[in-house]
Amino acid sequence: MNYSALNQVFFKSCSEVSSETNTPCYAVGGWVRDLFLERECKDIDVVVVGSGIEFAKEVAKKLNPKIKVNYFANFGTAQFVYDGIDYEFVGARKESYQRDSRNPIIENGTIEDDIARRDFTINSLAISLNASNFGELLDLHGGSADLEKKILRTPQDPDITYSDDPLRMLRAVRFASQLNFKIEEKSFEAISRNSNRLEIISKERIHSELNKILLSPKPSIGLDLLYKTGLLDYVLPELKLLHGVELYKGKGHKDNFYHTLQVVDNLAEKSDNLWLRWAALLHDIAKPQTKSFSEENGWSFHGHEVLGSKMAVSIFKTLKLPLDQPLQYVRKLIFLHLRPIALTKEEITDSAVRRLLFEAGDDIDDLLLLCQSDITSKNEAKVARYLENLEKLKLKIKEVEERDHIKNFQPPITGEMIMKTYNLKPSRVIGDIKNHIKEAILDGVIRNDYDEAFALMLSVAPKYITDAQS
Ligand code: ATP
Ligand code: MG
Repeated sequence: MNYSALNQVFFKSCSEVSSETNTPCYAVGGWVRDLFLERECKDIDVVVVGSGIEFAKEVAKKLNPKIKVNYFANFGTAQFVYDGIDYEFVGARKESYQRDSRNPIIENGTIEDDIARRDFTINSLAISLNASNFGELLDLHGGSADLEKKILRTPQDPDITYSDDPLRMLRAVRFASQLNFKIEEKSFEAISRNSNRLEIISKERIHSELNKILLSPKPSIGLDLLYKTGLLDYVLPELKLLHGVELYKGKGHKDNFYHTLQVVDNLAEKSDNLWLRWAALLHDIAKPQTKSFSEENGWSFHGHEVLGSKMAVSIFKTLKLPLDQPLQYVRKLIFLHLRPIALTKEEITDSAVRRLLFEAGDDIDDLLLLCQSDITSKNEAKVARYLENLEKLKLKIKEVEERDHIKNFQPPITGEMIMKTYNLKPSRVIGDIKNHIKEAILDGVIRNDYDEAFALMLSVAPKYITDAQS
């Protein structure tokens, strides 16, 4: 472990305050774990055997008297930001739980009590900041050995740990995914037994852990664990339905659950965009509902992109995920995810490319990344052929966009121009004329140019206006 991190002025200040006020104090939790794992960590938790709030105020005063200390008297916690790092202080505590809540009853306790209430042994390490043994590691539950073995294990009986605070089950899966650790067998079984306890956890906390799983280097680790522990029933039951292969007259389809996990992993290698990873997770979500078999074509999932894009709305609502821009983006990508590959199956016309560019807009590159990740066949020749076609399409898209500027396409003739030219009030016919011009540009009948669009308006508008009046 690299102890030079303890040279920071912050830890020295804690040590001084500890001596001056005779209050033992320790760095604990995620920061200590991440120090061992050499991961970057931007929040540091300090436990003091005494008042966390008073202690934080004294430390802040030493660092810079201007620091604003936020504190929550009810919880006995204090927090401030210094040099871009978030510091949190709390008095050592002992906890007891009631069946219907993950919020415990709290009493003051010793450092040992405080450490015993932590979720995993790897999160239960503490480093002394006391002058007498500054920098000494306090490892009461074998956390450093578990870090070596890459194991997630609870300090107490796992059934009690998970039932007390069911959020810990999701944290276990999330850490397994983020760190590529194994969940110890006993813990795994306890999670499987207690999965229904997730019912008392708020959707906001569930989606926040799910987001962390999706953002991990290989999200399939966490997603598969959600499935295997049964937690997926309470997190995203729609995804579970993708699991399994149906056979009809000896013909099967892909297991869409494992296909989806592969797509998410493929994408995770290329992009950190959380919402793009969500689009990958949900791109085939409507396959079970749209599945059918025919003698000529075998298995098909007709319209799954349309229904899937609708299902994203209810999933985002249920999980209390943001319904504005992120949802619209995810819906759009699901809706369009078949288009690029479908395009490459025939001669790629300019007008088909213009339509795709118009609909995808600035998200065209993300859509292509999703499509590329979606190519997962076991048949290598097929994968190579699809990838090659996709590359051709990309070149074509670049060429058409450079020439026609469709991506941020604003029709050169606005509604106001039409109303002014024909002295009309706002009405449906204005939209019809605008649409006619837009379609002509996308079809390549005219260029994306003011003069050509104006000329087209002059030739088609009179008929629209007479039809509307008759
Ligand atoms: P990250 O910051 O990446 O989410 P972390 O382990 O630092 O990971 P925090 O939520 O910051 O997680 O919590 C800090 C510490 O508090 C943890 O390392 C752990 O010791 C303890 N802790 C957090 N949540 C729980 C919980 N639900 N049950 C028990 N201990 C917990
Ligand atoms: Mg943390």
